[in-house]
Amino acid sequence: MAHIGIVGSGLMGCATALNLLEQGHSVTILERDAGGLPASVGNAGILAVPEIDPLARPGMLLSVPKWLLDPQGPLTVRWQDLPALAPWLIRFLLSASADKVAASRAAMLSLMKTAEADHVRLGTMAGISGHLRDTGALTVFDSTAARDKTFAHEAENARLIGCNVEKLTTEEARRRVPALQGAFAGAIFSDGYKTFDYPLTFLRRLQAVLRERATLLDATVSSVARAENGVIVRTEGGREFTFDRLAITAGVWSRRFVADLGLTVLLETERGYNTTFMNPSTTLEMPVFFSEHGFVATPFENALRIGGAVELASPEAPANYKRTAAMRKKMRRYVPDLQEEGGTEWMGRRPSTPDTLPVISLHPGDPRIAFAFGHGHLGLTLSATTGRHVARLLAGEGDAALTPFSIARFQ
Ligand SMILES: Cc1cc2nc3c(=O)[nH]c(=O)nc-3n(C[C@H](O)[C@H](O)[C@H](O)COP(=O)(O)OP(=O)(O)OC[C@H]3O[C@@H](n4cnc5c(N)ncnc54)[C@H](O)[C@@H]3O)c2cc1C
Repeated sequence: MAHIGIVGSGLMGCATALNLLEQGHSVTILERDAGGLPASVGNAGILAVPEIDPLARPGMLLSVPKWLLDPQGPLTVRWQDLPALAPWLIRFLLSASADKVAASRAAMLSLMKTAEADHVRLGTMAGISGHLRDTGALTVFDSTAARDKTFAHEAENARLIGCNVEKLTTEEARRRVPALQGAFAGAIFSDGYKTFDYPLTFLRRLQAVLRERATLLDATVSSVARAENGVIVRTEGGREFTFDRLAITAGVWSRRFVADLGLTVLLETERGYNTTFMNPSTTLEMPVFFSEHGFVATPFENALRIGGAVELASPEAPANYKRTAAMRKKMRRYVPDLQEEGGTEWMGRRPSTPDTLPVISLHPGDPRIAFAFGHGHLGLTLSATTGRHVARLLAGEGDAALTPFSIARFQ
């Protein structure tokens, strides 16, 4: 049994901690803002197993100029942050080649294949069950040409994952989600998606279990260092811990600890926005993606969340809530009954790598240290799988299938 430290108690930290406890280790998690609202609580709540495509791919890049012209569109760059973002953006563009896209899809497929089973297992470890609803998801389109083009690709992804997709007319889509009374040309239904009960509840339940079974400390980690007798973690409060092993799971803020440990990584935030209506006057039967506009609406019990978008900006830049209003306005084109008033706005930071692949890796020069961050749009989906892999890596069980996720690719 080892004493293992974890920096950050978002989804990656919690899933890693539960898997390490299962192996019989003693675990201490250091979290600077345990009551905070990081990406792990404000996400869209979707187990998105069919999403194996990297963000950087030729078709997507063709849409970028059009998106950038709309300041409230699905993609914006905070131009004053461009110099800092440039290395990430260059690697992003280089990741769009056909061979890199194919390799990235194969790697993501390997993680996605166990994502649902890993969540069921993680739930069992935490004493949680029934937290995943078998909803499927609908994607609506403004033209049948766009629907048909996407359908061919989605059908191929569904075949790989082992789920089903259906091409729907407007009327067929409305029969499944009657609130979609605005104009659209057609839709695709996929039964490969599931919906979590509520992301905030899910994370708080995991954290509550860890407060009982591990040590969850309110502490801001200021630095980490390797030493002969262990891995040293220092906090802003002046405390110092020496752990046998350490996992870095601090979302986008992981990059400063990567630097402390003598490595580099390209990790930036794709910031996303949403509005949550509690006890909404209108709701949906399942998540509805408005992919051409870069947002999704997810129904939870007693809540409706509308959000998405990508804003490339420094993590600490002020939020621009005009983006939430823009998504609500667009949503009313499809769901005219969506209420105008109320709702809570939120901005969150997706920790993203330029090649879309998360970092799930040991330190190349020190097997006592593991990294788990950079899951971008898919961190809820992949958290349980990541926690399982990190625990195995720290136990010395290397896995060649994890090579694409190694931090070595940035060195
Ligand atoms: C709008 C939006 C919608 C999304 N929808 C989905 C979805 O439907 N499905 C899906 O799979 N994914 C979704 N995601 C992505 C997912 O939410 C993230 O990938 C995931 O939450 C990242 O988890 P994390 O634990 O790596 O990081 P975080 O949630 O950012 O957690 C990091 C933790 O580290 C702590 N920390 C940071 N620095 C320190 C320090 N110095 N000392 C101590 N603690 C520290 C932070 O306080 C935080 O608690 C969405 C994201 C956004 C923004």
